[in-house]
Amino acid sequence: MTARQRDAFGRPLTATLVAADACPDCNADVSVVEIEPGVYKGTILHDETCPYLSAREQRIARAREGLRDRGLR
Ligand SMILES: [Zn+2]
Repeated sequence: MTARQRDAFGRPLTATLVAADACPDCNADVSVVEIEPGVYKGTILHDETCPYLSAREQRIARAREGLRDRGLR
């Protein structure tokens, strides 16, 4: 394992990501896959009732409306 694959505390990066609290508002499921050497893809699956996910989706919807209103989308 190279230095790039470890966090600032020297812990293996994948183990750190999986162990970290993925979401402060729900019991999100987390998976991390190394898609090529040193490059990781993380997936976070929030609970359907997660307040953080709901707020994030609302922010994205407002941003899309803003783009539509300006004729950018
Ligand atoms: Zn969540």
